Amino acid sequence: MRKNIVAGNWKMNKTLQEGVALAQELNAALVADKPVCDVVICTPFIHLASVTPIVDSAVIGVGAENCADKVSGAYTGEVSAAMVASTGAQYVILGHSERRAYYGETVEILTEKVNLALANELTPIFCIGEVLAEREANQQNEVVAAQLASVFHLSAEEFGKVVLAYEPVWAIGTGKTATSAQAQEIHAFIRSLIAEKYGKEVADNTSILYGGSCNPTNAKELFSNPDVDGGLIGGASLKVADFKAIIDAFKA
Ligand code: PEP
Repeated sequence: MRKNIVAGNWKMNKTLQEGVALAQELNAALVADKPVCDVVICTPFIHLASVTPIVDSAVIGVGAENCADKVSGAYTGEVSAAMVASTGAQYVILGHSERRAYYGETVEILTEKVNLALANELTPIFCIGEVLAEREANQQNEVVAAQLASVFHLSAEEFGKVVLAYEPVWAIGTGKTATSAQAQEIHAFIRSLIAEKYGKEVADNTSILYGGSCNPTNAKELFSNPDVDGGLIGGASLKVADFKAIIDAFKA
């Protein structure tokens, strides 16, 4: 069966020293009080090699927030999937709405990134979600269906290695959250698209996370939906108490 996962997205926050301290504090808290779901922290590239050895891999997985769409070579400033994997990281967020909006990441670019992540044995946490105008025009289903083109070329076996994150862009960092019913409705729709493409078993085994102003107060209700398998957490992943409270939403 699919896994429940709570993944943190640190974005462009924390110096190396601050990030190491945050990872150490989270690790101590989770080693002392084991989570009942998988926990992942996705950090800036420069933190990865320092963070992976200090967390207990039995309780925390580590990931990057992006990787290049090229294998290697003259791409100044880029970081390849192979480089990410060489730090010991196991995950990579791809297709985050901030990457799509500010760095022009298209379906085609993201297809390359997904392929390279999988070729380097990284688990993509692939983000999809509509902007406010699209939600207001009731176009959210068409939008997420189109975004899934970056992963729907994969074989069923490859697709089985992908984690999806539905993140309504209007809820990211805004304090506005999708209602529990809105989240369930679109997660069920996304799962139906996977079932159409790959069959029911693959769909049932796919973890679909919700992201967008998830916090200790709303996590339990969001995660209680049958098609919401955890969360991708931005702001609240920067404070151990808040992130742990979200992780603990899976406890009875
Ligand atoms: C995110 O960036 O993936 C996110 C969900 O951010 P926040 O939790 O801050 O809304």
